[in-house]
Amino acid sequence: PRYVYRFGGGVSDGGSGDRNLLGGKGANLAEMASIGLPVPPGFTISTEMCTRYYEEGQRFPESLRTEVANGIAHIEGITGKKFGDAADPLLVSVRSGARASMPGMMDTVLNLGLNDATVVGLAQASGDARFAWDSYRRFIQMYSDVVLELDHGAFEEALEIAKEDKGYSLDTELSAEDWQGLVDQYKAIVQEQWNKPFPQDVHEQLWGAVGAVFGSWQSERAKVYRRLHDIPGAWGTAVNVQAMVFGNMGDTSATGVAFTRDPSTGERAYYGEYLINAQGEDVVAGIRTPQYLTLAAREKAGAKPLSMEESMPEVYGQLAKVFDLLETHYRDMQDIEFTVQQGKLWMLQTRAGKRTAKAALKVAVDMAEEGLITREEAVARVDPAALDQLLHPTLDPKAPRDVIAKGLPASPGAASGLVVFDADTAEKRAEMGDAVILVRTETSPEDIHGMHAAKGILTARGGMTSHAAVVARGMGRPCVSGVGTLAIDAKAKRFKVGGREVKEGDTITIDGSTGEVMLGSVATVQPELAGDFGVLMEWADGVRRLKVRANAETPLDCETARSFGAEGVGLCRTEHMFFDADRITAVRQMILAEDEKGRRAALAKLLPEQRGDFTAIFRIMAGLPVTIRLLDPPLHEFLPHAEEEFAEVAASSGVGVETLKRRAAELHEFNPMLGHRGCRLGVTYPEIYEMQARAIFEAALDVAAETGEPPIPEVMIPLVATRRELELMKAIVDKAAAAVFAERGRDIAYLVGTMIELPRAALKAGEIAEVGEFFSFGTNDLTQTTLGVSRDDAGRFLTTYVDQGIYSKDPFVSLDVEGVGELIEIAAERGRKTRAGIKLGICGEHGGDPASIAFCERTGLDYVSASPYRVPIARLAAAQAAL
Ligand code: ADP
Ligand code: MG
Ligand code: MG
Repeated sequence: PRYVYRFGGGVSDGGSGDRNLLGGKGANLAEMASIGLPVPPGFTISTEMCTRYYEEGQRFPESLRTEVANGIAHIEGITGKKFGDAADPLLVSVRSGARASMPGMMDTVLNLGLNDATVVGLAQASGDARFAWDSYRRFIQMYSDVVLELDHGAFEEALEIAKEDKGYSLDTELSAEDWQGLVDQYKAIVQEQWNKPFPQDVHEQLWGAVGAVFGSWQSERAKVYRRLHDIPGAWGTAVNVQAMVFGNMGDTSATGVAFTRDPSTGERAYYGEYLINAQGEDVVAGIRTPQYLTLAAREKAGAKPLSMEESMPEVYGQLAKVFDLLETHYRDMQDIEFTVQQGKLWMLQTRAGKRTAKAALKVAVDMAEEGLITREEAVARVDPAALDQLLHPTLDPKAPRDVIAKGLPASPGAASGLVVFDADTAEKRAEMGDAVILVRTETSPEDIHGMHAAKGILTARGGMTSHAAVVARGMGRPCVSGVGTLAIDAKAKRFKVGGREVKEGDTITIDGSTGEVMLGSVATVQPELAGDFGVLMEWADGVRRLKVRANAETPLDCETARSFGAEGVGLCRTEHMFFDADRITAVRQMILAEDEKGRRAALAKLLPEQRGDFTAIFRIMAGLPVTIRLLDPPLHEFLPHAEEEFAEVAASSGVGVETLKRRAAELHEFNPMLGHRGCRLGVTYPEIYEMQARAIFEAALDVAAETGEPPIPEVMIPLVATRRELELMKAIVDKAAAAVFAERGRDIAYLVGTMIELPRAALKAGEIAEVGEFFSFGTNDLTQTTLGVSRDDAGRFLTTYVDQGIYSKDPFVSLDVEGVGELIEIAAERGRKTRAGIKLGICGEHGGDPASIAFCERTGLDYVSASPYRVPIARLAAAQAAL
């Protein structure tokens, strides 16, 4: 098989369609070269090689050596330079590049091919000794870090000391001699740490770097990133070897990164940063503060250093043309890396730009309106999960705030939390349930788990394209970066800013849309869901087949759900109402009663309360279906524990505390989830369901009379396993309905159905559908009972299960389509056979998960039901599933 694919100089062995094989970077380099853009020549070693490399114990096949030699010859032919040539050496970069972009997670080595001999040749050939020695020291440092895995602190320290000795503050002040001196020191550091001299053989350098890039696929940070982003470990990375172009060849050279539109707001304006006389990694690493690309951005920020548009107008003009060309070619917003070598522009990377949810919406809607993409494509473009960012509260503009600093608005959204100074503490505190803000001088890929655990990220250094900014935007975490006034003392766990001191555990608020940092927590308001959001949702609703309902049981939840476009309630859990402070004593009295009479006395107290609950919900949902689940949880959960709780029940029921305690002991269960719960409660204590049914119908008639628009109650019986159970329960509900309708002299339409949440129910769905008028798949319990895994205890082993590929995702988050999904398909098919057109829905947590929604569409369910904040996500995911 072939592993090496060339690009550049009129040759492109691959193209943008080959990202699985060549990785995103390699595929797009080939594509850019083939559409005539200036790309330094190079070649890509395919991801298949990465897979084989790991299969064969991290060794390369002989054939690869020949292929790589041909690849190098390809570059030599185009550049006219020879790899390892002491007179005029070819230098290359060795770059990672997976199928899905994993920014900064894997390794890259620049300036490879330098040694004690070639550095002299480079100095002569370029006529610039300073540049040659600067490149060599960069190479030694990067190679030592990435390939030899030496401690990089020693190199940084040597540079700092050299600068201090000379009284320099910037790297650009160092002369050729200074860099040459540093190279000697760097080599000494390598000798000392590695016990061998720095490798002088350029081929040894090349293979070392290729191995390191493949090796970085299995690095801890890459694994964590893959887990967070659901990227399979089997994909592997490609390796790109490419002729170097130099942004560090003086003041007519530069390097930069750019987006074709603003990745925070989606606005149609070029957006980016550049640095004169620097190499690529300088921009992202936050060593020097990068300058604005455009004049408009510089003026808006009130910054002094000239924008690229001003300092290099000609190259900027070319670059702007390339931006437009790439956008039209890829029909999407692009994230671009470029370098200018002595006035000549070179393209080093392009990919679909990561963007905030807000920007994703704007770019999709704008591009559809510009005619670049269709409306369906616009709907397909926006990641439903990302909408989450937009649905949560933002800072109340009217709330008082104590602004202590201002930085760059690197990732929008607001967050309040306790200050922490390292990723591990962030993770620990978050596990304890604290909201935390991670405060770092700058972040690096090692911080990724802490960034994920934090509600927001604040850094003292770094620009809008720094690691912190890019990663935070990808994760949807608010981020303020580059707060230059922040003096962080991470060891002492405190920072100082503007004469104020903030310690670990103090609360701050950051606003990633304005860059403001505030002391304390600031009040928030609900977001505006009009504008692009409204437009895109309308387009989505136009293509969607599945209905979207909400899981809601409080008036507030119902209102939120309706405002987000819910078309009814798919699951109203009545037990939450039973826990309310004013009722729990009556509930306990009912549970602990010795006989039916005692229970009825307690239920009589609960009836008006329960009727009030339903009235409030029906009012909000007037005219829409509302599925109400009758009492489901084990009675065990309601038992009193504390002395005073027993005393309260005793007082309200007139039964002695000792009797109550004996009764509570009797009711104790060893495995309550499989115990006395669901319809088993209705079978043993029919009066409970009778009271609930009565409350539902009385409330429905009240609201019908009041608004003229009756709700459509769908009474749902939980945890049914057999037809007979449902028959008994339906009889109770029908009898209550008949009684209420007779009393009121009016009736309304309603349905009685069941949850399908036990494997037996799924299998016997044919029989059950003879009685039940609808099915709602309760996939939380159905997952627990099918997998035999308790959701509450699974945390201890599920991560390992997912890492080992036993389940591809957490089955409680994303439906186990193969297993649980098959039971749903069986139940749907058998149910439809006995009751044509039986109404089918899903009400588990999965109802808000895009992948699970796609399954529901394939299975032809009628609706999905999700938590209120996930309703828009479900609407969009349902539309995408229908496309
Ligand atoms: P990452 O995926 O982390 O961005 P890259 O492989 O893109 O890693 O490289 C890191 C930096 O090095 C980028 O800024 C890129 O532009 C620069 N770079 C990579 N290859 C070359 C090259 N051949 N010439 C000049 N700069 C390069
Ligand atoms: Mg890159
Ligand atoms: Mg259940």
